[in-house]
Amino acid sequence: MSADTTLMPIPGAVDPVPVARAAVPRADGRVELVGLSRDRIRDALEAAGLDDRQAKLRAKQIWHWIYNRGVGDFAAMSDIAKPQRPWFAERFVISRPEVVEAQVSSDGTRKWLLKTHDGHDFEMVFIPDADRGTLCVSSQVGCTLNCRFCATGTMQLVRNLEPAEIVGQVMLARDALGEWPSQSEGRMLTNIVMMGMGEPLYNFDNVRDALKIVMDGDGLGLSRRRITLSTSGVVPMMARAGEEIGVNLAVSLHAVTKEVRDEIVPLNRKYGIEQLLEACAAYPGANNARRITFEYVMLKDKNDSDEDARELVRLIRKYKLPAKVNLIPFNPWPGAAYECSDPARIRAFSNIVFESGISAPVRTPRGRDIDAACGQLKTAAEKKRRSREAA
Ligand code: SAH
Ligand code: SF4
Repeated sequence: MSADTTLMPIPGAVDPVPVARAAVPRADGRVELVGLSRDRIRDALEAAGLDDRQAKLRAKQIWHWIYNRGVGDFAAMSDIAKPQRPWFAERFVISRPEVVEAQVSSDGTRKWLLKTHDGHDFEMVFIPDADRGTLCVSSQVGCTLNCRFCATGTMQLVRNLEPAEIVGQVMLARDALGEWPSQSEGRMLTNIVMMGMGEPLYNFDNVRDALKIVMDGDGLGLSRRRITLSTSGVVPMMARAGEEIGVNLAVSLHAVTKEVRDEIVPLNRKYGIEQLLEACAAYPGANNARRITFEYVMLKDKNDSDEDARELVRLIRKYKLPAKVNLIPFNPWPGAAYECSDPARIRAFSNIVFESGISAPVRTPRGRDIDAACGQLKTAAEKKRRSREAA
């Protein structure tokens, strides 16, 4: 039997106001250099007392140590005079998010539970495939949007991740994979998806600044074609995302009728399907070679009928969207109000979309044995912690 969801109240605010909280200074008063552009690093060095010329030189050297060598310890920066190194270490820090828990799945998927310097947990996942390795990066701690099938949406706590914490995830993955110094060939970490916890377009500035650093050719050097930003449909920010970041776009569509999308993606009450698809049609840089991905989570008896599939095709055609569809089997979590569609139903849905000429692969669930879906490791870890505390 599928769960009756119609009578359940939607938790949290339906029309959230995304207020960016001020960055929390580090307890030790030092300035974090990860996540700053070269110019901002130079400004920070000048503010600490270096003259123009020194600040410019040191900023260039430090950038190289951080993003090409993966070095976080000023004592190891051999092109800075030894007696000067402690001066930097007293004022600045090059850090990574703290690792609370690291797990490896039997299928090679890796998952980390991380902690910000002010004590908030968030997640990161690495998914190795034959031809690529994809890092799934978080943009916020929790999420204000309360999609009903998403474990992250049930979390109360929300804070925007800072650029240092977003870039820091990539750095940490590089550390774990042993991929320093930066090189352009033979990498394991080849792709990034902003599909971890949070809504990236509600943390626009920080996500943009972080991705600019990740894409910088003299450093981490991931091409914008290998980075995908996923949004639940924050329509007013989509054009800016295309213009100012320029990465691939994924849209969490999940339903084709107002009634169902209003229920499972409450943001739909603010920005409806038609408005969302118009914004997709206008997304800068989308074309047949660079398609927009529509994510569609398969929920039993909710959004998975043949009629839904045909309506999906009709909408994609109506807006002439260069589109592909990712069908995601729902990953259940304790307390979720939905079930995953049957495999045969998912295949039938996929076939209808595919026969209309639109690619519609079914995503194989990865890392199920380590709760690797969005928001689930954090929830599991909190439960463990609570039961330890109760014991
Ligand atoms: N907030 C953004 C990005 C993070 S969510 C967004 O919603 O697009 C990344 C993807 O994971 C989204 O498509 C989301 O719908 C999907 N997702 C979340 N919880 C899921 C679950 N339990 N099972 C399957 N997919 C899920
Ligand atoms: Fe937030 Fe995305 Fe989860 Fe919706 S699916 S609650 S937007 S993280």
